[in-house]
Amino acid sequence: MAYIEPAPIKDRENPFESMMSRFDIAAQKLGLDQETYEVLKSPTKQVIVSLPITMDDGSKRVFEGYRVIHSNTLGPSKGGVRFAPDVHLDEVKALAAWMTWKCAVVDIPYGGAKGGIKCKPWTMSTGELERLTRAYTVSMYEIFGPDTDIPAPDMGTGPREMAWLMDEYSKANGKTVSAVVTGKPLVLGGSLGRVEATGRGVMVSALVAMEKLKINPAHATCAVQGFGNVGSNAASLLEERGVKVVAISDHTGAYYDAKGIDIRSAIAYKESNNNTLEGFTGGEIINNADLLELDIDLLVPAAKEDVITLANADNIKAKLIVEGANGPMGAKADPVIFEKGITVVPDILANAGGVTVSYFEWVQNRLGYKWTRERVNRRSDRIMKEAFERVYKVAQKYDVSLRIAAYMVAISKVADTYKLRGGY
Ligand code: NAD
Repeated sequence: MAYIEPAPIKDRENPFESMMSRFDIAAQKLGLDQETYEVLKSPTKQVIVSLPITMDDGSKRVFEGYRVIHSNTLGPSKGGVRFAPDVHLDEVKALAAWMTWKCAVVDIPYGGAKGGIKCKPWTMSTGELERLTRAYTVSMYEIFGPDTDIPAPDMGTGPREMAWLMDEYSKANGKTVSAVVTGKPLVLGGSLGRVEATGRGVMVSALVAMEKLKINPAHATCAVQGFGNVGSNAASLLEERGVKVVAISDHTGAYYDAKGIDIRSAIAYKESNNNTLEGFTGGEIINNADLLELDIDLLVPAAKEDVITLANADNIKAKLIVEGANGPMGAKADPVIFEKGITVVPDILANAGGVTVSYFEWVQNRLGYKWTRERVNRRSDRIMKEAFERVYKVAQKYDVSLRIAAYMVAISKVADTYKLRGGY
């Protein structure tokens, strides 16, 4: 995955607080008792390790690694590993909790976790990254496992790191344990359909939401922020279903064409251009921030956190926002967007197609059997549609946004399971 240097954490809404403020509203609506509230909000386990690594020049550097298991009530915890310089405990805690709610919303038998290493991966050699990944795996050996905690790629990591992780874990076990990690290369037990799974889930959620809003996809316009894995696949699949994608962007700029951008040629351009849209001529160049404020039917933020905030929420004109990215809208913007009557399909629902197909990868590894792409897509589409309907029903019943409804669905599922399992 391309690494984009994020804004310093002090300039952003604290992600843990952002998540907790939504959790609090949903818990209140559900009338969640104080004891269960305390259990659900507290991460089960937080681990910080120091990883001394020999650098290519022979020097030693110590890196800090994290793994937070937010919950393992529904099953083994699941969540990515992020390599980035601004990784810190609050962020990892928030991302781990998001994973708990995401898995619960789509009803897959996983808890939530997240991990990370504070490092600048783009300044490190392949050898240094390999030693770092292997050292992290060894230090987390007691945590990771196909029945306990299953990592996956996140920002700054990809199939290559997952292959190292799987190999190191397997060596320590004396046997190949493919199911310890998902997002692996196909030849090592990765799943067909995983690469496009998140974008596909975004497309499925967008189409179901359009149906509810009586927006005809064939007459709808859309803008997609971010043209990486999620954004480019979502744009291409939406285009295939007749939606006119009038604007796309990446960190190098934004491109607009009222007649619709040819997404296939944009993807081909990006692939031939070091993975960026810089210099793309298939649309007029517009300001990256202006893309969010276009007068369109559907907006898909699929780049990074906190792009819709109090500063621009009032200028958003889209009828529907489908959150491809994690946390693209700060909690403070929620009421403004809700008041404006804009429907938001929240991240924990809209981008859950990725973790759903990761779950399928784990299932296939455990079965020792490979599914066809068609089977993967059919099953994940069904899961996404069912999850949307569950959330929609709760939103109608309690007259709340889809975001609060998604939290309510997730919290009640984890709370009910916790109560049935019982504590000490
Ligand atoms: P990626 O690295 O493949 O792509 C990110 C894209 O965003 C790149 O095109 C980058 O240029 C662009 N970008 C960065 N800053 C931008 C800016 N200021 N304006 C416009 N574009 C900008 O990452 P990805 O895997 O597509 O993930 C994107 C988001 O989706 C992240 O929030 C990630 O956590 C979330 N997500 C990803 C997956 C997955 O399966 N990949 C699953 C769930 C959620």
